Amino acid sequence: MKVQIIPGCIACGACVSINPDIFDMDEVAHVNQSKVAGHEDDCRAAAEACPVHVIKIME
Ligand code: SF4
Repeated sequence: MKVQIIPGCIACGACVSINPDIFDMDEVAHVNQSKVAGHEDDCRAAAEACPVHVIKIME
């Protein structure tokens, strides 16, 4: 699985609260791709929780 955050993040923090190992944030959220393996369900949950739908998942 590859996870990408496209432009448009509003820094709400939802993805970080779901899994702070995978997602971190300064002005916008970032993905730690190396932490994705084994936590695919958290990635899908974050993509669903993102209010502006900028977390894109490639299975
Ligand atoms: S859930 Fe979406 S809008 Fe919120 S911080 Fe994460 S990527 Fe940004």
